[in-house]
Amino acid sequence: MKEFKHFINGEYVSSADGKTFENRNPIDNSLIGLIHEGGKTEVDAAVQAAKAALKGPWGKFTQAKRLEILHKIADRINERFEEFLVAECKDTGKPRSLASHIDIPRGAANFKTLSDTLINDPTESFNLDTPDGTGALNVGFRKPKGVIAVISPWNLPLLLMTWKVGPALACGNTVVVKPSEDTPATTTLLGEVMNECGVPAGVFNVVHGLGANSAGEFLTKHPDVDGITFTGETSTGETIMRAASVGLRNISLECGGKNPAIVFADCDMDKAIEGTMRSAFANCGQVCLGTERVYVERSIFDEFVNRLSDEAKTLKVGVPEEAGVNMGPLVSQEHKRKVLNYYKLAVEEGANVILGGGVPEMGGDLDQGAWVQPTIWTGLSENSRTVKEEIFGPCCHIQPFDTEEEAIEMANDTVYGLAAAVWTESTSKAVRVSQQLDVGIAWVNSWFLRDLRTAFGGAKQSGIGREGGIHSLEFYTELKNICIKM
Ligand code: NAD
Repeated sequence: MKEFKHFINGEYVSSADGKTFENRNPIDNSLIGLIHEGGKTEVDAAVQAAKAALKGPWGKFTQAKRLEILHKIADRINERFEEFLVAECKDTGKPRSLASHIDIPRGAANFKTLSDTLINDPTESFNLDTPDGTGALNVGFRKPKGVIAVISPWNLPLLLMTWKVGPALACGNTVVVKPSEDTPATTTLLGEVMNECGVPAGVFNVVHGLGANSAGEFLTKHPDVDGITFTGETSTGETIMRAASVGLRNISLECGGKNPAIVFADCDMDKAIEGTMRSAFANCGQVCLGTERVYVERSIFDEFVNRLSDEAKTLKVGVPEEAGVNMGPLVSQEHKRKVLNYYKLAVEEGANVILGGGVPEMGGDLDQGAWVQPTIWTGLSENSRTVKEEIFGPCCHIQPFDTEEEAIEMANDTVYGLAAAVWTESTSKAVRVSQQLDVGIAWVNSWFLRDLRTAFGGAKQSGIGREGGIHSLEFYTELKNICIKM
């Protein structure tokens, strides 16, 4: 039986009390292995190892040496690409084509993204006049923040974890990662890579477990954690924010969304359909940036609905290895129950079900898996729960609009503010609309096109803070001012 152990101070260790829980494959609900559940003992051991490592060789390495090691880690993940790919596909059920294109290569690249920013960051310097005429020089100086707790979700397990671990290590911090209980595999495997690449013991630690009253809670409440970076649901973000308030620890929160797309009549319809297919259905709809609300100008509404529905019918649902498959199952039975409850609710709230709304027949053992159909609705009120709440499944609601103002108002009428997509061939309209959308990232005629140097994060209840490029530097370092009297 496969076991997923903690990785503490450079070694794989079991839980002291022997507690484990199951890791199941979402394609057929078969048992992948047992995950060790971390308690206070394991969390404390990991945090103490991380704290000690700050004072060890890691803390003394030059920036160049640290970056060299991080580049090695990226290269090593790519050398062991197949192992990471198989592990990620087993945990999530996602198609190999998707994970080999996004999850693993981007997960590796995150160890290199901050290199140029770090090398070229000038900090600041000011000359100050003093009454005696000699003056003083102020110099900005960045220090690692210390021990960073990384709490990550299950939808892009490796990628979203290294998005934080890469920059945290590049800035000289040490980390304790608590991966999602649904997807422990690639984070566990990364421990081996760290050892292979000469990362000193204690710099990268992993503690498995659940959230409340388990490793997640114990880690975020640990007094020796200096900063917490989290990706996950907004309600979990609120809990973590409360935990971080004790001792005034810094937080970076990347949370949920209910993202709109606005499709204008002057769009390039082929592009809008292709982009919305990806934004609504990629990764079985389990992308925080995905579109769940589509607003379409009335004159092209019927055409758009018909074309999106026709295109969605061609999605090939199946197991990761099967050729041509572009949609897998949801991540777990629990998430399947949640999404199917929304499918039922949509009908109760009066939706026209244009496509899907149920469970596909997969046959054999696969019928035990977490499969759901790609689903499209129209006709719901903007106040319905289906249109207001994040579902995180392969589904969207399409609503017509008559004016630009109306589209913007409906798009912004949400507690979330993560991402939006605007489809129009008019540049001035695209800029005008994007500027008025209350989101962290607005795409024009594209979706999920990411320049990793740019700010990433959410407005409103979609998060606090920004990561990416210089913004990661802001979170993962403490900027101090040294004032030198001449
Ligand atoms: P989740 O909030 O349930 O879990 C995320 C992580 O938090 C897991 O590791 C979990 O064990 C841990 N956790 C749960 N309760 C905790 C607690 N009390 N204390 C400490 N840790 C705790 O989220 P999820 O279901 O894994 O992921 C899906 C959610 O993530 C969606 O809402 C999605 O929008 C969001 N998400 C956001 C982004 C973004 O960049 N904004 C990216 C991906 C996913």
